[in-house]
Amino acid sequence: ETLDKGLEKSKTSFFSKLGKAVAGKAKVDDDVLDSLEEILVTSDVGVDTTLKIIDRIEDRVARDKYLGTEELNTILREEIAGLLSETNTGEATDFEIPTNKKPYVLMVVGVNGVGKTTTIGKLAHQFSNKGLKVVLGAADTFRAAAIDQLQVWADRTNVPIIKQKMGSDPASVAFDTLSAAVNQNADVVIIDTAGRLHNKVNLMNELSKVKRVMQKVVGDAPHDVLLVLDGSTGQNAFEQAKQFTKATEVTSLAVTKLDGTAKGGVVIGISDQFQIPVKYIGVGEGIDDLQVFNKYEFVDSFFK
Ligand code: GDP
Repeated sequence: ETLDKGLEKSKTSFFSKLGKAVAGKAKVDDDVLDSLEEILVTSDVGVDTTLKIIDRIEDRVARDKYLGTEELNTILREEIAGLLSETNTGEATDFEIPTNKKPYVLMVVGVNGVGKTTTIGKLAHQFSNKGLKVVLGAADTFRAAAIDQLQVWADRTNVPIIKQKMGSDPASVAFDTLSAAVNQNADVVIIDTAGRLHNKVNLMNELSKVKRVMQKVVGDAPHDVLLVLDGSTGQNAFEQAKQFTKATEVTSLAVTKLDGTAKGGVVIGISDQFQIPVKYIGVGEGIDDLQVFNKYEFVDSFFK
């Protein structure tokens, strides 16, 4: 229900466009497929993934020449869910962490403004609500505002934060954070990192140094590298995914601001193109406005 509400915009727009495209048409013909292609592209699914979906539907039309437009919803839903299943195998409905990692170390990457700090705050809230002991690390030392913002979330969620002054070595902050987490017997460590894309070599070096230094404290850290993307930015989000996956090994995605966009299709395209699972979606600015991504609920929300 909250998902439906959060995704209201994506859903209404996608569904109503599809409705208009098939209005007065009994069967799926080339015109319908052309309109569908356009709807998917304008919903930010991305050209490659759109063509993949259209191909799959064409295959079905080839098998059933009289495929009715009333079945298109069902088929499209199946094909999109199928596509997401290739990467999003889990159907988690809860904020879970691996039980065999203590502390479980989550490194969060993404450019400024995408909602990285907010997502970290929301995660800290969810995990500590479950009784898990969380520690935050302010390793985005490039901007004073980043440290301050993370502090605000630490206060709001009543979670300890490890920080140093602006300009200090991010790897040193990460080292301190993991050491504190181990000392405090914490369950979850969330490390914020700087999101500068303009200097890719620096970014790559910085992220690998942060990782290397963290491993001095927790041998197999980080257990996950979460890339935060702004779902309302379409092609920019694709481009950022491209850059970050080149700079470091990204293991999961959080797509934010899906409440404010009519283009939630970016979730489908990015997950497909980069073969990385979407773990969380942001559907508002509030502390509870983060959801564990469930591909079936997500796809359904487009067609309800
Ligand atoms: P950062 O620079 O990446 O750390 O970005 P912030 O976490 O500071 O977020 C930037 C802005 O986006 C803030 O105004 C947030 O409240 C807002 N924001 C973050 N996530 C969401 C979301 O899921 N939905 C909406 N509507 N706003 C969000």
